[in-house]
Amino acid sequence: MKKTGIVFFPAFDWSLGESHPEREERLLYTQEQIFEEGIIDLPQVKQYSPGVANLFDVMLTQAVFPTPHRHKLDAHLIAVGSSMILSKALMNKEISNGFAMVRPPGHHSGATVWGNRGFCTLNNEAILVNNLRSQYGIKKVAIIDTDVHHGDGTQDVFYHDPNVLCISIHQDGRTLFPGTGFTDEQGGPNAWKSTVNIPLLPGVGDEGFLYALENWILPRVSEFKPDIIINSAGQDNHFTDPLASMNCTARGYGKITDMIKPNLAVLEGGYSIQGALPYINMAIFLALAGEDYSGVIEPHKPTRSEIGGETFRTFLAGLKQQHDNLRPNWTLRQEPYLPAGEWVYLEKSVFYDTDWFKENRREYIRKCDHCGGTVLMITQNLMTFEKAALVRIPFQACDTCEQAGYDLAEHFKKAEKTLLLQNQLRNQVHLWSQGEEVSLFES
Ligand SMILES: [Zn+2]
Ligand SMILES: [Zn+2]
Repeated sequence: MKKTGIVFFPAFDWSLGESHPEREERLLYTQEQIFEEGIIDLPQVKQYSPGVANLFDVMLTQAVFPTPHRHKLDAHLIAVGSSMILSKALMNKEISNGFAMVRPPGHHSGATVWGNRGFCTLNNEAILVNNLRSQYGIKKVAIIDTDVHHGDGTQDVFYHDPNVLCISIHQDGRTLFPGTGFTDEQGGPNAWKSTVNIPLLPGVGDEGFLYALENWILPRVSEFKPDIIINSAGQDNHFTDPLASMNCTARGYGKITDMIKPNLAVLEGGYSIQGALPYINMAIFLALAGEDYSGVIEPHKPTRSEIGGETFRTFLAGLKQQHDNLRPNWTLRQEPYLPAGEWVYLEKSVFYDTDWFKENRREYIRKCDHCGGTVLMITQNLMTFEKAALVRIPFQACDTCEQAGYDLAEHFKKAEKTLLLQNQLRNQVHLWSQGEEVSLFES
């Protein structure tokens, strides 16, 4: 029998403040509803207890600076670890799909982390995906982010990775946090087209969402041929959500899940605590379990005006054309410390809205026809002025890129106060602070 796994981690003792939209009640009502409706007792449902991720898993994917020990990560490590409980169950064939109903969320947390942004410090899906690749030999993963906010952190983690397809469909960044996720963001020099952004006008509902899925997202996913599909299942597209302006219903979310058929759904945002979350969570869960979700009806009716029909189809066709016609224009740069090869230079500024500061980042990506290419990031926290470097040797790195990574690490161990070497090829992580290696296994 096809089993559906479920794990709850409501993080009762973690909050950004009692009146903050991202608070523990987000999962309390859902949990009650799912138990009351007897869904947990369905024969195909298997409930798991939460787990804890370790810093090694985190740092193979995200560089938490200046050291992870300087951050309060307890709740975040359980949100990641609980999601990973389901990915492990999936790999052990105990379940065929699952839903991690965890908080805090994670999709705004990127490749380098100096604090909390968009309520996220660690990226649950990204860490889980790289764990599947390092521990279970999974090669290609598609992540479909259906949260109303652009999944900018997930995009950032995999921007230079040709083996992870990141698709985010969200409310237009000109009208909503984090202000990114436009069609020109399509991946780095070795991973161009592995990032897809579909920014929607405010007011789109089930009809528009399902149309975009059928005509753009799902064809792109089947072309990519992933081994695994992950859904970042944010629920703030609901017509009652207080932070956004979209028009989806709980049943619409059930249908979205039905169409994506994710191996794992991981909860992201969704802030309409009583009016939407229990219903959406239930619809998603019933869809995963192969049950009828057509009777899941929320107490309120949509009041926002909806953009659908021909207007939406014309809008989406224009967006798709803009996306398809874009060509990258890379800037090459030489620096004395860069090993042989062509290095593409990018700059980035990251705003940490929760903690209210900015990070500036310079990136160098080794252009390579044989692998994802070694990446160097030099980053600075503009509140504390601390600097740090990240060197990443990618999964399936070629010999030249691997050596380039060691050469860069040798240089930056001395040149910067803090250096993280993410060696995804050899499944190793080394963090140096002032030339001394920092253990990731003591707190
Ligand atoms: Zn969101
Ligand atoms: Zn290479």
